[in-house]
Amino acid sequence: RETPSKTALESSYMGKHWTEKSLSEMNGRDWRILREDFAIVTKGGAVENPMRNWEELDVIPKDLLRIVTHDLHFLSPTPIQRITIPNVCRKNQYRDFLGVASTGSGKTLAFIVPILIRMSRSSSRPPSLKIMDGPKALILAPTRELVQQIQAEAERVTKIWSIENNYDCKVVSIVGGHSLEEISYSLSEGCDILVATPGRLIDSLDNHLLVMKQVETLVLDEADKMVDLGFEDQVTNILTKVDVGADPSINRQTMMFTATMTSVIEKIAAGYMKKPVYATIGVDTGSEPLIQQIVEYSDNDEQKFKKLRSVVTKYEPPIIIFINYKQTADWLAEKFQNETNMKVTILHGSKSQDQREHSLKLFRSGKVQIMVATNVAARGLDIPNVSLVVNFQIPKKIDDYIHRIGRTGRAAKEGTAISYVGGTEDETLIGELHKYVKKHDPLNNNRFSDAVKNKYNFGIEKRNEVIY
Ligand code: ADP
Ligand code: MG
Repeated sequence: RETPSKTALESSYMGKHWTEKSLSEMNGRDWRILREDFAIVTKGGAVENPMRNWEELDVIPKDLLRIVTHDLHFLSPTPIQRITIPNVCRKNQYRDFLGVASTGSGKTLAFIVPILIRMSRSSSRPPSLKIMDGPKALILAPTRELVQQIQAEAERVTKIWSIENNYDCKVVSIVGGHSLEEISYSLSEGCDILVATPGRLIDSLDNHLLVMKQVETLVLDEADKMVDLGFEDQVTNILTKVDVGADPSINRQTMMFTATMTSVIEKIAAGYMKKPVYATIGVDTGSEPLIQQIVEYSDNDEQKFKKLRSVVTKYEPPIIIFINYKQTADWLAEKFQNETNMKVTILHGSKSQDQREHSLKLFRSGKVQIMVATNVAARGLDIPNVSLVVNFQIPKKIDDYIHRIGRTGRAAKEGTAISYVGGTEDETLIGELHKYVKKHDPLNNNRFSDAVKNKYNFGIEKRNEVIY
């Protein structure tokens, strides 16, 4: 069989990209594609869309914007910044937020910018009041080093901001190793943003070195690490103290950031946060989806179909089969309709938006068991969790492979992905695919069939079990 070339229509979906539209032209699907592009997953209800750039939302004041883009030269926001900022500082709505993102993802600025936005909205106070009322923002971090990093990162912004605003925004840190005298001294000129390790902060509070009446923003950074280091009780103790001592007119906001989601973090969130937005960036290593990834050799579509026909009966629907070309989709769907008793729906780029929505509805409702889809058409669509993803043809890029198999194994369920390789066009991806599967299949690192290994010279590995 000749491999048909990609249709012009399908390529045109690539062009309809969120970067090329004005804000008002963005529809639900565009926003979903944007989220997929940055691997942003959210829950919590009434969640704001991610920022497409720094400028578009008018939440960031001009002076702050210029510091970030010009002085710091951060030309575009990182994914965690894109989703955090619009959700935590809408006008007069300071929502609680729980972000799961790995280190190095730019979390510091994701909370420092909102802290400064909120400060800039309130009128400045005479310096004499600062000491009595305590900080407007409190950031807790697990170690001395992290506290000092956060302080340094915050000061990069506040130093310039203070000069321009004629409002001296002071960032103070409290860490173990500082004597109470030293801490008292560092607070004596006022403190707007306090960064602290939990233990030393409790000492300082117990010794009346400061009060916590005015805390508008409370941040728990690296919450999982704080729990690992045994600070859970100290953290909840501080959360309670801040609650009890708060000026009742302050609508306090709590943000929590963690690299992994654990039951203890969930418990803290449930106990101390009000309807937070949950956002996860990329893979949450704490609950990496369990996807069994199997790679089989076949260079013939008829032969693949024959194998597949018996394979699909072993899985609970819904099942998705990915293909690269719409002609293959039509052919394959017809084979299933004619030669099995399973119902199939097709999702590819030549279908109208209405037709695609209809296909999805049938699939979601269980009226059809199998969906045959191109990844371009499937992008940005809200497809339910499936038990089996088949790559009848593997995609050209590993990112597309990850997107495709990500349709299964969600919500702590196990899933299976079966990929057929064999065509010459598969050679470009096979090396990367091999690496990816070896690294990410937690159940068994050896899912490549012997035929695939022989064909692509993967060398001698432990014999794999028979999967089906
Ligand atoms: P995390 O707290 O998630 O580990 P950090 O906030 O420490 O990450 O940021 C990691 C690095 O990225 C820092 O050096 C920071 O200055 C830089 N950074 C933060 N935001 C951006 C951005 N939008 N563009 C480029 N670099 C950034
Ligand atoms: Mg950090």
